Amino acid sequence: ASKAGAFSATLFPGDGVGPEISSAVKQMIEAAKVPVTWDEQHINKTVDPRTNSMVTRENLDSVLKHKVGLKGPMATPIGKGFRSLNLTLRKELELYANVRPCFSLPGYKTRYDNVNLVTVRENTEGEYSGLEHEVITRKASSRVAEFAFKYAKDNNRQKVSAVHKANIMKKADGLFLECCREVAAKYPDITYDELIVDNACMQLVRDPGQFDVMLMPNLYGDIISDLCAGLIGGLGLTPSANVGMHGLCLGEAVHGTAPDIAGKDMANPTALALSACMMLRHVGHVDAADNIQQAVLAVIAEGKYRTRDLGGNASTSDFTKAVIDKLS
Ligand code: NAD
Repeated sequence: ASKAGAFSATLFPGDGVGPEISSAVKQMIEAAKVPVTWDEQHINKTVDPRTNSMVTRENLDSVLKHKVGLKGPMATPIGKGFRSLNLTLRKELELYANVRPCFSLPGYKTRYDNVNLVTVRENTEGEYSGLEHEVITRKASSRVAEFAFKYAKDNNRQKVSAVHKANIMKKADGLFLECCREVAAKYPDITYDELIVDNACMQLVRDPGQFDVMLMPNLYGDIISDLCAGLIGGLGLTPSANVGMHGLCLGEAVHGTAPDIAGKDMANPTALALSACMMLRHVGHVDAADNIQQAVLAVIAEGKYRTRDLGGNASTSDFTKAVIDKLS
């Protein structure tokens, strides 16, 4: 049994397939006997003037209070003059690092069987923060670099590769690299190298096995982490956690609301389940996280209950039940 005790966490079920996969993951966590109390939060249908977003002040306060949470995908209406829901959460809560582990799943064949990497993405600044032409700051660059090296050390990873385009984006990416180098100097046991983003894409599809931890500014991280998901079988599989100041951690499936399959009991809950495992590890429930993760991977490896995105015909509920039956 885990040494960690009872805790409370925010749950945003989200839109589209969000409520279905959230319910599946809640069932898995309950079956694994994790003593969690969920504070379920829903996004508004109208803009909250206090946040200039449909994310309300109460939504934000819930995460600040519990410090940890899990988030399903959210549909952001395009171009209506207010901030994206995800951007609001990341900026207002200062969730400055997005961490996405990506590894080949045993028994699920793709073109690659040697993927075992983690992307660490700056989550609050840069071209992708909603303010076009804003350059990244020293503060944001240094703290995400610190996070990546500490993560590498804590998780027995050997190498950190910074991804950039400093040859062209001399100001923003130049500063980012400078900060990465400063932090790298403090971690002599971890190999540090740098790659230009276009070459990084080519190297990833040629041989993903050469990468360990990849550290990058916001926009490159958005693109490269989806590329990495493709290497191992798609967005239904890859988890992430948004980590911030004061121990904040918000687990999040990286896929969207999947409107084409919403409400049909067809979605793969794996990405959200593995995101929940990241959140559980963060609060010290390591055994429960390992238990759930191993059960999910075992069901996929066996192949009898796979959801449609993985070529099977199991429903979300069938898959969830199979995972629960596998828990030790
Ligand atoms: P999407 O990820 O929703 O869907 C892309 C494809 O992947 C679809 O065919 C979908 O069926 C499939 N898919 C995604 N998740 C799956 C799962 N768990 N199981 C099985 N199949 C799955 O991307 P999209 O269609 O570009 O976006 C739809 C909506 O989601 C948009 O409103 C967008 O703004 C939103 N979105 C939200 C987030 C987020 O909240 N983090 C991320 C991306 C997109």
